[in-house]
Amino acid sequence: MIKEYLKTINTFEKELSHLGAISALLQWDQQTIMPKAASAERAEQSAYISTKIHQTFLNKKFITAVNKLSNQVNFKKLSKNNQTRIKHLKKDQDKNKKIPLKHVEEYSKLTSLSHHKWVDARNKENTKLFLPTLTKVVNLKLKEIKYLDPKGIANHPYDILLDDFEEGMTVEKIDPIFEELKFGIIQILNKIKQSKPYKTRKDILANKKYKFPKEIQLKVTNEIASLMNPDTNRFTIAESVHPFTTRISFNDTRLTTAVRENQPMFSFTSLSHEAGHAQYEMGMGKNLKNTSLQDCPTVGLHESQSRIWENQVTRSFDFWQFYYPKYQKHFPTLKSLKLKDFYESINIVKPSLVRIECDELTYCLHVIIRYELEKDLIAQKIKAKDLEKKWNQKYQEYLGVKPNKPSRGVLQDVHWSEGYFGYFPTYALGTLYSAMLWKQINIDNKQLKKQIKKGNIKYIKDWLDKKIHVHGKTKTTEQIIKLATKQTITAKPFLNYLKDKYYPLYNIKE
Ligand SMILES: [Zn+2]
Repeated sequence: MIKEYLKTINTFEKELSHLGAISALLQWDQQTIMPKAASAERAEQSAYISTKIHQTFLNKKFITAVNKLSNQVNFKKLSKNNQTRIKHLKKDQDKNKKIPLKHVEEYSKLTSLSHHKWVDARNKENTKLFLPTLTKVVNLKLKEIKYLDPKGIANHPYDILLDDFEEGMTVEKIDPIFEELKFGIIQILNKIKQSKPYKTRKDILANKKYKFPKEIQLKVTNEIASLMNPDTNRFTIAESVHPFTTRISFNDTRLTTAVRENQPMFSFTSLSHEAGHAQYEMGMGKNLKNTSLQDCPTVGLHESQSRIWENQVTRSFDFWQFYYPKYQKHFPTLKSLKLKDFYESINIVKPSLVRIECDELTYCLHVIIRYELEKDLIAQKIKAKDLEKKWNQKYQEYLGVKPNKPSRGVLQDVHWSEGYFGYFPTYALGTLYSAMLWKQINIDNKQLKKQIKKGNIKYIKDWLDKKIHVHGKTKTTEQIIKLATKQTITAKPFLNYLKDKYYPLYNIKE
């Protein structure tokens, strides 16, 4: 019978994988090349596929097969990978059962309305216009927590929401890590602020005498993507407003890029970020194809794969020693700009208001502010109407800057309007994982920096494929990180990486 049940599960997972592919392709198309007039039709198509996915997931045959294999006698007889698969499926199905369909419908209606309200409030620079809807979204999230944890067993209600994005993480685990991280970054930032270069250094690339034509920027992004992912038959790149990556199927990963004429580093770093995500998608074990294990265990681990390429590799001096001559050939106006000046310019530290435009050093402070606020919101320590004031206070306190308008302050991110509470911390967790992995890869290969200088970056991809990507969802993030680095998550490697990089850049002696 076990064989029969597994066969049923294979069939349903394959169907879910196909439906997921269609849904992802519809979305990728919508955000890249779809004609504007098709919006309403596309919304209908996407909703249709979503319903199909939901129905397939809750099909009685599928649920029965999962239940049968979940019972102790059968479960013990399964292979390790199948055990993991069944555990995940059972958990997701149980979660689904606990939330009434009425709630799901109400929630999806509210979040699409809430998105429009957010856009409107943002355009009008008036936070108040968004508050009534945001309050409703928060209330529905609180209700969801009640459905999922009726007895209030979790230490913190926010843990229930975290579970959707970073399984295994809790407020209890995150709080001390983020405290250390916050304190460490602010300490480094204060030292930098007192340094001489901080006062004089400018964003040289913004000077109009340097020209970065759009078509050349696109050529460069293609070059970087192929350098990072030599298997160019398995992915493709298009333009979208916000860069993103999505897996359609095993041999089809889609990336997008966005170009800003006078900010060449925007397309460069966002593409190397997305190509890191793509590497993860393309590196998953072939044996996991079309199963629920062809996935990442948590969002934070996926983010670590993009940030390691965006920061540790393509913002490093080693990388630019190799790539700058090529870059100058692409953009001949850079001919007179020395590598050292270029490198300093692309790593300029300047506390700013907007998360997706900020520098590498202060990035996690932006994330921590959001985490602290949404955690208090879910614990009902603060209300939606308090958010803007608290937001501005924290920006002043941690970064020393004050938002001049809501679109560059509390209304800048889409997450809360879509009910994504519990997502923000994954950005910082991913950043911490990336530094842990970077430390380890340099221990495993002492020649790595030398190799990067010569443009040989293959080792990095191979190492990440072997240590991270190939596992898919067969292990937890904690297990994968532990196997790769022999450690559990900590802020120290990231803080050390920041000091090693930024103290020399700002002539700071410890
Ligand atoms: Zn990312």
